[in-house]
Amino acid sequence: MEYLIKEAARRSARYLEVLRGRSVAPPPEAVERLNGFDVPLQEEPIAPLKVLAELDEFGSAATVASAGPRYFGFVTGGTLPAALAANVLAGAWDQNAVFHVASPPTAFLEEVCRRWLIELFGLPPGAGTGFVTGATMANLSALAAARHALLERLGWDVEAQGLFGAPPIKVIVGAEVHVSVLKALSLLGLGRERVVRVPVDGQGRMQPEAIPALAEPAIICVQAGNVNTGAFDPAAEICAIAQASGSWVHVDGAFGLWAAACPDRKHLAAGIPSANSWATDAHKWLNVPYDSGIVLVRDPQHLKASMSSRAAYLIAGDSREPSHYTPELSRRARGVEVWAALRSLGRSGLADLIGRNCRHARRFAEGLKSAGYDVLNEVVLNQVLVSFGSADRTREVVTRVQEDGTCWCGGTEWQGNAAMRISVSSWATTEEDVARSLQAIIRLASG
Ligand SMILES: *Cc1c(COP(=O)(O)O)cnc(C)c1O
Repeated sequence: MEYLIKEAARRSARYLEVLRGRSVAPPPEAVERLNGFDVPLQEEPIAPLKVLAELDEFGSAATVASAGPRYFGFVTGGTLPAALAANVLAGAWDQNAVFHVASPPTAFLEEVCRRWLIELFGLPPGAGTGFVTGATMANLSALAAARHALLERLGWDVEAQGLFGAPPIKVIVGAEVHVSVLKALSLLGLGRERVVRVPVDGQGRMQPEAIPALAEPAIICVQAGNVNTGAFDPAAEICAIAQASGSWVHVDGAFGLWAAACPDRKHLAAGIPSANSWATDAHKWLNVPYDSGIVLVRDPQHLKASMSSRAAYLIAGDSREPSHYTPELSRRARGVEVWAALRSLGRSGLADLIGRNCRHARRFAEGLKSAGYDVLNEVVLNQVLVSFGSADRTREVVTRVQEDGTCWCGGTEWQGNAAMRISVSSWATTEEDVARSLQAIIRLASG
């Protein structure tokens, strides 16, 4: 066993070393070699060392180098060294984070992380937390808590009775709402299309004066960090409007919520603590391994009421039971990596990571502007949108950048314009990586 684990560690270390220098998108030949996996399942067992060797031989070169320093696609963090090491140990632990009795350390670490995160984000100290797969499930869990709270007030037990015959709930979103919020609403029976869409400005920020008058309590979904521009909805104004009608404000802060942990960017998150629930990702800006998201709810009872399930053999103790706050019962111990990342960074390390990535984004924007290209957004966070001229031209440059392999950026469309997205989210990115990537992008765009 010891030799096998050392061999896995040796191959992992070599993988990460090669990663810094290689093409960010895998070369087509490497993807072709995945066919090496395509064999009929053999009859006899195979030694674990050989299984590992095959995985490395056929798999490693075909990976996207998203753990490396020059991957700027979607919103993708790498994995901090401490988080990766914790992932290895937690893999050996193989704990089920379902109940305290099934895994005291993982339940305990979730509680420690709950307190740390609440402090970092400036949220109410008593908020409840669930450690889920990502912001999609965090949005789902928070909106389930919202659905519970609003219907309970109207005397309807949605967990018991479902939505058939229930009083309707109005849901308000910005026109640039993230698709995962709509997906969560659809899964909860609240519907993707029956939402009220509030107009947004040129950065994608909801215009609070356009929120319709609310006679009944509604759910208002605020966005902290638009996936294209990085812009924040005006949370303070929206929360004030919500309070007047007893509405529930949910914040999708998949990556933007982390701005609150950086003194230099904290102003963006003003008003956010007045909301009722928050969703964020750890696998984006906290740089822990996939999959890892966090839901926070001001009144933990609402989250618990919507998530907990009871059976005679599932005996709950007196301490916080992790599965009372998540859609899952059995679950991997994601809190371990969240703890390791926060413990290794400390408050200043986290602030520095967020601040540094934002500075890198501004550097990209300045470099592209001085080369004559249009930056379509105000670069307030870690997101940059750039146009290289016509839509066709912009799409062609995106393809060239991806094929060149120095870095990787995705394409998007922003309010009718084709754009390339640059999202700087990794602890591993240095000034030099930014300079090298900028040089490559400008060379490819001018060629
Ligand atoms: C990434 C993202 C999500 C979805 O997060 P997953 O971790 O992919 O489930 C939701 N909202 C925003 C704003 C995002 O950027």
